[in-house]
Amino acid sequence: MNHHGIHHVTAIAGNARRNVEFYTRTLGLRLVKKTVNFDDPGTYHFYYGDEVGSPGTILTFFPWDHVAPGRLGVGETQETAFRVPEGAIGYWTHRFIEKGVAYQPIVRRFGETVLSFKDPHGMRLALVGVPGIESEPGWTNGEVPAEVAIRGFHGVNLLLQEAAPTGAILTDVLGFTEIGREGSLVRFKAEGTQIGGIVDIHEAGGFLPARMGGGSVHHIAFRAADDAAEAAMVKKLVENHGIRTTEQKDRNYFRSVYFREPGHVLFEIATDIPGFAADEPVAHLGEALKLPSFLEPRRAQIEAVLPQIDLSDAA
Ligand code: ZN
Repeated sequence: MNHHGIHHVTAIAGNARRNVEFYTRTLGLRLVKKTVNFDDPGTYHFYYGDEVGSPGTILTFFPWDHVAPGRLGVGETQETAFRVPEGAIGYWTHRFIEKGVAYQPIVRRFGETVLSFKDPHGMRLALVGVPGIESEPGWTNGEVPAEVAIRGFHGVNLLLQEAAPTGAILTDVLGFTEIGREGSLVRFKAEGTQIGGIVDIHEAGGFLPARMGGGSVHHIAFRAADDAAEAAMVKKLVENHGIRTTEQKDRNYFRSVYFREPGHVLFEIATDIPGFAADEPVAHLGEALKLPSFLEPRRAQIEAVLPQIDLSDAA
């Protein structure tokens, strides 16, 4: 079994309710965990993914009301792309028109159909039509039919000054191989990984540095099977690249280290274990506010400051 590729992508949103509404209704993802930012417990941390929150399907948000919009620049994630069956692109184009979602004309990239769009807080997203994935299980909550549903991440596109230094980390440490070039893009693929297996580096010298804000990706997390695999990657980062990570942090659903890669994007390495069913059954993922044990004693205060996100009365 292969454990490489993207584990999750974490981004910054504005209003929490608007965020939940867009990802669960317009995009039809499952809210697999409703918790708080462990480092800032007055802020929600939402995780969206497939039915069980498989690594490679998880997009997470810190929603901050009144956050200033981010500014695209060098040293950040330019676009985060999901996989859909190739034949579903027409459905999604119609859905975006119907729902008033801002989208770009369809383009071809590395031979694939790409429909770029933005979420309500300016996050740059895309759907990539992938042939032959119709038979992969799709999850539905009744908003988007299972046959056209999102099947996890396709990958991310990083806007960087130069591709080589970051490419070296992807290939030597994170299990990727360079598989192609097109214009100013260099494509890397995680060996044997279908979901979340792509990182494109968009080499663009001369851009202003990014300014993080609403719609910006905060970090990209890559997969490690377990603690031993993560420790081996940390060792390689230090020994081969002189990069030190943070100490390991327990995120309840995975265990993580963080580091700034040479192109200035914040990278995380996250274990596949224990997963999102660690503290609630799969059938009820995302329904209750879950807190790590160290925050449980403060539950009443935390719940009092978090905004209400009940969607039952939403149009
Ligand atoms: Zn993370």
